[in-house]
Amino acid sequence: MKTLIKNGTVVNSTGTAQADVLIDGETIAAVLAPGSSLLGFDVENNVDTVIDAAGKYVIPGGIDAHTHMEMPFGGTNASDTFETGTRAAAWGGTTSIVDFVVQYAGENVLDQFALWHEKARDNCAIDYGFHQILSDVQDSSLTAMDELVKEGVSSFKLFMAYKGVFLSDDGQITKAMQRAAQNGSMIMMHAENGSVIDLLVQQAVAAGNTTPYYHGLTRPWQAEEEATHRAIMLANLTGAPLYVVHVSAKQAVAQIATARDNGQNVFGETCPQYLYLSLEDNLGAESDEWGSFEGAKWVCSTPLRSREEGHQHHMWQSLRTNDIQMVSTDHCPFCMKGQKDMGLTDFSKIPNGIGSVEHRMDLLYQGVVDGNISLERWVEVTSTTPARMFGMYGKKGVIQPGADGDIVVYDPKGHTSIGVDKSHHMNMDYSAWEGYEIDGHVDTVLSRGKVVIDDNQYLGTKGDGKFFKRGLSQYLI
Ligand SMILES: [Zn+2]
Repeated sequence: MKTLIKNGTVVNSTGTAQADVLIDGETIAAVLAPGSSLLGFDVENNVDTVIDAAGKYVIPGGIDAHTHMEMPFGGTNASDTFETGTRAAAWGGTTSIVDFVVQYAGENVLDQFALWHEKARDNCAIDYGFHQILSDVQDSSLTAMDELVKEGVSSFKLFMAYKGVFLSDDGQITKAMQRAAQNGSMIMMHAENGSVIDLLVQQAVAAGNTTPYYHGLTRPWQAEEEATHRAIMLANLTGAPLYVVHVSAKQAVAQIATARDNGQNVFGETCPQYLYLSLEDNLGAESDEWGSFEGAKWVCSTPLRSREEGHQHHMWQSLRTNDIQMVSTDHCPFCMKGQKDMGLTDFSKIPNGIGSVEHRMDLLYQGVVDGNISLERWVEVTSTTPARMFGMYGKKGVIQPGADGDIVVYDPKGHTSIGVDKSHHMNMDYSAWEGYEIDGHVDTVLSRGKVVIDDNQYLGTKGDGKFFKRGLSQYLI
């Protein structure tokens, strides 16, 4: 099966060119000067499928390096399964995810890794990899880290919050970092001071402040900045590379920027919600249906920050100046009915997470239209950097010969209306992005050479997506 994508504008993180892309089987065979001929050989008449991308961008498929499909959390499971979540991702131009294997305290890391393979195998629409969450860092977890690196899991996530669920204390964190420094893997950190947050939550609930708005107020930026700084210092001490997940506070960005200026291998990820949504507009929202509980739709951690304090604007700027390196979704959807409403009378019982896996490419493209980032930077923060950060670059994150045929044909003259009755394919009963209008459209999506989305139709099958065995981060020397 040979496919030619002709007449398009190929956008890589390094630049933009008019070019045709030839895919042979699952792999990009050539990027050709326009005209579809190679040294007189007529390419177009020797392929099975021709896709005309005139007037459109041809970009490497999106890589969402932070998703939680069907994650058990707060007494329920994230509402997207590997099947529904990866299919929604494909709809939105994302062709790879890196999801998190969960190990809760007391569980065995390698058992959990095997369990997550079972959940994902034969169910995914697009390729997937795994990070491993470590909750308590047992001796067996340390040896498991070495094993997992060999299995293509080269990144380990630790939590400085959620005591009794995920939290590792500073000694445990240091132990895992020492091991990462030895085996070359990446430490990912949920950086919020959990004890401080737990206290503030208790006090708020005791005072009768139980609406979702208080979720934001009880997880203040100081708790994020402090934990980010502490994580950076422990990484400095041990020599481990550090990737801070879902950065939302501008003060936490400043800590990351300083560490980078000092030459430390520290990286920051943000998410679309921290670029667009806010404490005032969303956590404080009210509706006829839900009253002041409306804000539960946007309860996630780290929380949405105050627009008055300017975090959103600062986050776009940090993305442009590379103080923040990439954008993932932290996709962890829960329905309002039967899940989020467990916290109807107490915000601390609301499962934390929102769903965005389908809309990340569009929402970030809108940043191009709005003049916040360049076209090449769009590709870089959504695909190329995630690939390099997590050991997938070369096969993923770039349009070049030898890379997987993961390609999105994106129409800058198209339009996408987001909402549950519109472009929504995630397994949720609401959209966190209801009413957002995007000046662009995902037209065609190829996953390893196979067209999975075209002309507003899903053409793939579950199980198309295969496990991607990742190498070590390509940002480290
Ligand atoms: Zn997460």
